[in-house]
Formats: sequence, structure tokens, C-alpha cells
Amino acid sequence: MKYFEKCLVPALVCLGLFLVFSLVSGNQKPYTATTFVMDTVATQTVYGRRGAEAASAVEDALRGMDARLSLYNGTGDIARLAQSAGSGEPVAVDPQTYALLEQSQALAAQTEGAFQLTVGPLTLAWGISGDTPRVPAQQEIDALLPLVDDAGLFLQDGTARLCTAGQAVDLGGVAKGAACDTAKALYTQYGISSALCWVGGSSIYAHGTKPDGSLWRIGFRDPAGDGHTSIASFEIRDAAFATSGGYERYFERDGVRYQHILDPQTGRPAQTDIVSIGILAESGLAADLWSTALFVQGKEKALAYFAAGGEGLLLDEAGNLYVSAALQSSFSRADGAGEQYQIIFL
Ligand code: ADP
Ligand code: MG
Repeated sequence: MKYFEKCLVPALVCLGLFLVFSLVSGNQKPYTATTFVMDTVATQTVYGRRGAEAASAVEDALRGMDARLSLYNGTGDIARLAQSAGSGEPVAVDPQTYALLEQSQALAAQTEGAFQLTVGPLTLAWGISGDTPRVPAQQEIDALLPLVDDAGLFLQDGTARLCTAGQAVDLGGVAKGAACDTAKALYTQYGISSALCWVGGSSIYAHGTKPDGSLWRIGFRDPAGDGHTSIASFEIRDAAFATSGGYERYFERDGVRYQHILDPQTGRPAQTDIVSIGILAESGLAADLWSTALFVQGKEKALAYFAAGGEGLLLDEAGNLYVSAALQSSFSRADGAGEQYQIIFL
């Protein structure tokens, strides 16, 4: 008995230590998932006991969103909405699609026409998101411009309707941000307190803090770099950050560069004095929508957005990097990059 006790106590202590250790180290080891959705790659890093479960739930949810929201998926909500444009028939959509349309419409209405959910006919004509981009003739653009008008999008009781044949909603400017919001909801549901979710290179959601309690450090991409270098970084928690820039998606024809953010006034790629803009917000949808809208609206409107309490970063053509209030305390210029930029704290 004595001999047994002698062995049992240290054995139990060892077992206890092992359990504690594996629990702690298990929590520290993140689960990572990479998913091809929304014509891009979503990457998650999720910490915690239920990390794998949460990440997989997010993957499923993003695939579902992609199917519902893509203009190119014939059976999805947004594609069906375009198909029935002008028919007078309201299209019943998934409640999540409906909520997304409602929220986007309310925010778009604040952008003085710069962000139009009904930009679809133009993005289709330019083929900007597809494999065969082209420069439409001015006549073609002129014929499409009247269709780009959010006043023709009616939302009521879970249904959506576009009033004129040929109209189409394109959610490319909000879908990735909305995907961040979906990730946030699921991480919360699964009790996750530490996760990062990238959707494409342009939208990120930072959930909670890092496992050690410190904040997540987010980089602001160097437009002159290869996509992996930053000119500056800052710390956040429980927030989304979305960027828009002419360098993100574009094609070249006869020496002219055409980027994928269109000006609904002209029907052509937005001529802007902004090189890139990043918007920080609690809502991924808002961050994504405003980054696209302000890119179209230009520097003056963007600075007014920051002056009114909006948060983010703006790089202009003269090389000025404007930094809004909340980002200043943790702001750091990247080593060896971005020396040519002039930092301006707002
Ligand atoms: P990214 O897709 O790289 O994250 P953005 O969030 O800025 O970039 O969104 C660009 C997309 O938004 C385009 O590919 C197009 O689908 C859509 N879009 C382009 N111009 C407008 C506009 N003026 N209003 C609303 N959506 C737009
Ligand atoms: Mg956007």
C-alpha cells in the first residue's frame, strides 16, 4: 500500500501537470483555415478549444453567402433579383440577404451617389471581376448609366425588386466586409475570444485580443510593394478594417490602367486623388462600403469623414499618409518601408 501510494501521488501530480499543460498549450495553438470564396481567399486563425469548430462554421457560412450574393450564380438571391428586374415581381430572398441589402442601402444613401448597389450593369460591361475585362464604348456606357440608380431598388417584407429591366445589384463592394461580420457572429456564438479572419487582401476582422491579451497589429499595405509589405501598422481589437485602392484589382489596355472601382457618375473607373484608403469600424460591412465610397468621393470627403469621427488611414497621390485619431496611439511606421511618405496625424 505504502509503495503504491508513493507511486500514485507523483503519478497523479504528473498527470495533473500534463493536463494543465495540454489545456493551456492547446488553447494557444491556433486553428487555421483557408477557403476559396467570393472570388478570393478567406483565411482564418482561430484560438481556443472550439477553434476548429468555429472556423468550419465560418467556412460554411461564407460559402452560403457567396452562393446567395454572387451576381454570377444563376440560382442565388442576387442573380435572381437581376433576372427579374423590370418584371414587377418582387423576389423573396433569404433573411440574411435581405438584412444585408437593407443595411447596405441605408449606408449607400449617405454617400451622395458614390456607392451604388445597382452598379451591376457597369461592372458586368467592364468585366472587371471576370477573366475577360474590356473597355466598353462610350455609347454603351451612356446607355447603361440610367440603370445605375439605387432609387430603383425596392426592399419590402423580405423581398427585393429592381424596377427597370437590365438593372443588377453588385455587392462586390460590401460582401467581404459582410463576411467579416458573419465571422464575428459565429466566433461569438462559439465562445471564441481570440481570432483573425481575412477575406481577400482587403477586409480583415480582429476578434477579441491575441491569446496573451495584447491587441492585434494590422498592417496598411504598401501600394508600391508586392502585396505583402506594409507602410505602417496599428493595433485593434473587435473591429474590422477594409481597404480600397486602385492597385488592388485592375487591368491594362493600350498602356492605360483601369481599376475596378467605378464612378457611377461617369460609368468609368473612378478618377481619384486617393491612392488607397483603409476604414476601421465595428461593422465590417460599414468599413468595406465606406472604403469603396470614399475612394470614389476623393480626399476632401474622406478627410471630412475622419473629421466627423470616422476612423482610418488615407494615402494620397502626393505621398501624405493621414492617420485618424483612434489609430494614432499604436501607430507605427514600418521598418525600411514608407520613408517617402509624410505622416499626418489628424
Ligand atoms: P475589393 O473588392 O478589392 O475589396 P472594394 O471593397 O473597394 O474592393 O470593392 C470593389 C468592388 O465593388 C468592385 O469590384 C465592384 O464589384 C463594386 N463596385 C465598384 N464600384 C462601385 C461603386 N461605385 N459602388 C458600389 N460598388 C462598386
Ligand atoms: Mg469595399
